[in-house]
Amino acid sequence: MKILIVNAGSSSLKYQLIDMDNEKTLAKGLVERIGIAGSRLKQTAGDKEHIVEIPMNDHVEASKQMLKALTDDQNGVVKNMDDIGAVGHRVVHGGEDFTKSTLIDDNCIKAIEENSPFAPLHNPANLMGIKATRMVMPNTPMVAVFDTSFHQTMPRKGFLYGLPMDYYKRLKVRRYGFHGTSHRFVSQQAAKLLNKKPEELKIITCHLGNGSSICAVEHGKSVDTSMGMTPLEGVVMGTRSGNVDPASLQFIMKQENLDIDQMLEILNKKSGLHGLSEVSSDMRDIEAAAADGNINAQAALDVLYTGIKKYIGAYAAVMGGVDVVVFTAGIGENSPNTRKAVCEGMEFLGMKLDLEENSKRGGARVISAADSKVKILVVPTDEELVIAQDTLEIVSKLS
Ligand code: AMP
Repeated sequence: MKILIVNAGSSSLKYQLIDMDNEKTLAKGLVERIGIAGSRLKQTAGDKEHIVEIPMNDHVEASKQMLKALTDDQNGVVKNMDDIGAVGHRVVHGGEDFTKSTLIDDNCIKAIEENSPFAPLHNPANLMGIKATRMVMPNTPMVAVFDTSFHQTMPRKGFLYGLPMDYYKRLKVRRYGFHGTSHRFVSQQAAKLLNKKPEELKIITCHLGNGSSICAVEHGKSVDTSMGMTPLEGVVMGTRSGNVDPASLQFIMKQENLDIDQMLEILNKKSGLHGLSEVSSDMRDIEAAAADGNINAQAALDVLYTGIKKYIGAYAAVMGGVDVVVFTAGIGENSPNTRKAVCEGMEFLGMKLDLEENSKRGGARVISAADSKVKILVVPTDEELVIAQDTLEIVSKLS
């Protein structure tokens, strides 16, 4: 079966068509600037590139163009729409309503809508993608895969904040966690690589990309994670601050005469590695600047490294030990410097890196020394594949 994966943003639609018979990607595409001047679709399929530049006023038009590109005589990869067996949608926030991926129906859409206040930028955009594709592919089954659902196994002691209980009971303010598809995938891959079952292991997964989160996966289940009710909590990220003293915000807002929206904009878009380094939000630029002697870039790196170490220490404590530490996503997979700095001084916990293995490039692999008590792994993440696998599993059960 061929499965279409859709990740809709407020003015964009990212898609990928995967042939699940061999788990190979047939085509990848991005529609940008939906509803604004300069709408553009770019699709690549092998060495074929297909670009369409026409006005696309909404996600329905973008979805039509996506299907047109996928079925294009010259650059397409399928004959017609019926060759697409199902659609898997990435949805950011499933709140407490979704503990796993779910077939999309009217009730599912309503529940995603109800969780929109937790992810006001993402859920409404994801819904636009769902509604538009349902309109242009009315007979194709669709599945929602949530960033939050893997973390629904967290116990109360992991997800409650130290706020009045009433806020949890009435408003559902709590830790939800994100990057769930990635933490699930890389923890399962790590177990496979070590010839173990996830149920036998205590794993700490470090998803380090533009957005970063760390997760404690005990016996296959998420028991704690660094992101919170929103993806702002945790370690410093590309432009997001991660943890700060909440009371410092009042001080800054008074001093700088900012309202809460302006403050949040700064926390989300102008902070983190970008804010600290005053160089860039991109790890490659920051590493280069630090190597050139830029002290703010070095400070940004040090804050990130220390933040990750703190979570590893904390999650080893939460689980009563750790067997495996996994690095994944753009930084985790590609920055040997970050992995080295994070593992430095962690021998007391049983983590000993093999510096030569760490400096090599490659796919999923062990980078710890032979005598390291804790296995340290690099596992490339593949969130699209997880979405496709979940979608296939759910639609295969439909009669
Ligand atoms: P992601 O959000 O997973 O795509 O990750 C993006 C981050 O990965 C950016 O900060 C990139 O700078 C970083 N990244 C990608 N390649 C490398 C590399 N070779 N070395 C260091 N960081 C990298």
